[in-house]
Amino acid sequence: MVIHIIQRPNEVQITDARIQTQMDRINRDFQGLDDNRSLIPELFHENIGFPNFEFVLADEDPNGRPSEGIIRKQTSINNIGSAFSRDGKEAIKFNSLGGSDAWHPDSCINVWVGATTDFFGFAAPLDLAGTPEDGIIISPEAFGLVPTSVEEPVSTGLGRTLTHELGHYFGLSHVWGSDTTCDNDGDGIEDTPEQEVIYTQCPEFPQVSCNSSDMTNNYMQFTNDECLLFFTNGQAQRMRDVLNDVRSDLIVSSNNVQIEDELSFEIRQSLGSLEIVREKNTSNFAIVSIFNTSGQLILNEELNSVNVHTIDTNNWPRAVYILSILDANSRFTHTFTAGY
Ligand SMILES: [Zn+2]
Repeated sequence: MVIHIIQRPNEVQITDARIQTQMDRINRDFQGLDDNRSLIPELFHENIGFPNFEFVLADEDPNGRPSEGIIRKQTSINNIGSAFSRDGKEAIKFNSLGGSDAWHPDSCINVWVGATTDFFGFAAPLDLAGTPEDGIIISPEAFGLVPTSVEEPVSTGLGRTLTHELGHYFGLSHVWGSDTTCDNDGDGIEDTPEQEVIYTQCPEFPQVSCNSSDMTNNYMQFTNDECLLFFTNGQAQRMRDVLNDVRSDLIVSSNNVQIEDELSFEIRQSLGSLEIVREKNTSNFAIVSIFNTSGQLILNEELNSVNVHTIDTNNWPRAVYILSILDANSRFTHTFTAGY
């Protein structure tokens, strides 16, 4: 990971110590090191899951020179985190626009910290994976452990904006999905309840919508940092799938990442179609599902028992899609881009 700090001289400057508090926060959150289960309603204890990712600052710059993984630049641009060039590029992500160029976006998570006007954090969609615009923007008042001298640190003061944005970076949508209704599949994750309310602050348990109790403590909510407490097993699995597939160049060592592709398929893609080819001895019953990165279910059908299962992708919007094949006890996932 590399942290680009782009600030005006008159702002409260982000120190190395504060960057360390941010790294500690995401590592604790992604590995479940905070023993905060007592704050999580018992109803959800069986759903708690952790991806077990460990994040480290880059120790080499793009030219191979030793580095701390931190870049600091002064700017004269107001709210550079929300500034765009005329052709729609985010200024903070480019030297030529007064920001800071990404370091190898395929093998390094780029995080830009700069003042914003309309959001605390923003992650580039998965479609931009590996491009110069891939990465996350965080506003300084939501970065790391915010000193109490900074005004109103209450809702974003514990550094969990980056936890939430990393969830997006690894393919998660908000718990409520692409819209706040009960009649679609929400976020495409099986073990997060359907939800039609967007919660803020720290609502008391229980909060019910769509006939079930909502997971207001999930990291993929808009509630305050102090009550964002867990990912689910399904979310952790989705993030590991995205890491192992679209973002596999980020993996330095995989001791802690379980790869569970036990089913074996060859995926062939051509203009307008996707073919799933069974490899030997996998003729058992299986379901194929495809989600988009907002978590909407695009397709859900039984896998043909014949060798090749063809999916027509004509007229699909250009986007990244996540395919998963599940049988009674194993799973296979594959991420692909379709649509032209
Ligand atoms: Zn979000």
